[in-house]
Amino acid sequence: MKIDVLNCVNGQSGFVRLVKSTGNDLDIVRAARVSYDADWRTGEDEGADRKLIRYLLKNHHTSPFEHVTFTFEVKAPIFVIRQWHRHRTWSYNEISARYTELDEGYYVPRVEHITTQHTDNKQMRTMIQHPEAESIQNMIDHSCISSFAVYRNLIATGAPRELARGVLPLNAYSRMFATVDLHNFMGFIRLRLHSHSQYEIRVYAEAMSKLVAEQVPVTMGAFFELLEKK
Ligand SMILES: Cc1cc2nc3c(=O)[nH]c(=O)nc-3n(C[C@H](O)[C@H](O)[C@H](O)COP(=O)(O)OP(=O)(O)OC[C@H]3O[C@@H](n4cnc5c(N)ncnc54)[C@H](O)[C@@H]3O)c2cc1C
Repeated sequence: MKIDVLNCVNGQSGFVRLVKSTGNDLDIVRAARVSYDADWRTGEDEGADRKLIRYLLKNHHTSPFEHVTFTFEVKAPIFVIRQWHRHRTWSYNEISARYTELDEGYYVPRVEHITTQHTDNKQMRTMIQHPEAESIQNMIDHSCISSFAVYRNLIATGAPRELARGVLPLNAYSRMFATVDLHNFMGFIRLRLHSHSQYEIRVYAEAMSKLVAEQVPVTMGAFFELLEKK
């Protein structure tokens, strides 16, 4: 249950792996039906379950979705992990560059993703390819190569890892375990699949949506249907 993302020019890619999940669509309807003390159900009436899940999502009855949880292993550039950590309802454990030397992995964007800076929306890039995309790509690559060379030199001279890591770029790959319930997962997806989100985190949101849809197909189907209608 692993999807590679950000296949970049130097052969380095990130990934997202579904390590474990608890619960399914039926757990959501069971939790919801406790509200009105309905019979314990075994999933024999899928039509009613689908309708209920859609109703819950549409009317923001969110708590039943908290009974389903997911743990992901994520390998992503540090700048993506930093955006991710703003989602406070997730639980995280990240590799420590104090404990261990980071490997040589870093992200270099593909030429087709190197566009120009947006002028209206200051946080975004445009869809127009930069005329010097290839040279920008080279500059990013070379800058990362030299940062990692300095990092290795510092470690070789006995500098502490916790200080040596300070020269590494935001493009360096890091790894984390991240656990979330389905309600807060959907909150993440709503924000991070949005066109205003950065491409490099959107691809993780897309990959996780596929993994989660296999566990809770009815909920994710209804979620995307309602999202498209907005
Ligand atoms: C396109 C985009 C651009 C962004 N730009 C920036 C930026 O420039 N700088 C920056 O710092 N961040 C930025 N963010 C991060 C953003 O401000 C949120 O921190 C992030 O999206 C997490 O959203 P969240 O708070 O809804 O998620 P979570 O932290 O998972 O929280 C989920 C929900 O729980 C509730 N909640 C959680 N914690 C609290 C709390 N302490 N108090 C009250 N309610 C709480 C809220 O209802 C919240 O919506 C950006 C996000 C996006 C999507």
